[in-house]
Amino acid sequence: MFAPPNDHSPVSRRADGPSRSGEAAVAELQHEVERLRMVTEALWRILREKHGLDEQELVRQITAIDLEDGKFDGRVATQPPKPCPKCGRTLSKSRPRCLFCGEPIAQDPFQR
Ligand SMILES: [Zn+2]
Repeated sequence: MFAPPNDHSPVSRRADGPSRSGEAAVAELQHEVERLRMVTEALWRILREKHGLDEQELVRQITAIDLEDGKFDGRVATQPPKPCPKCGRTLSKSRPRCLFCGEPIAQDPFQR
């Protein structure tokens, strides 16, 4: 659903020369954040209206995620790389298979 930026993305990092300003990149990111905020709110409304969840539950879950790194700071902790379950070497977060032994790795859609 939320594909990472690629070479065609307006927010991808590449050497575009002097025509691409930092302000334009920030404006694009702000627009993208606003769009994601709307998607998140729409998903929340669906959960609230169709499944009867309340705001308290949402706030509890947000707080729990925030506190997973032991700090209540409005930020999500990055997760350290995990070892391969087959060979024990460190896995790359961006690859669906172990680089060393080829073991397929189940992807966590919320991995950071
Ligand atoms: Zn492996």
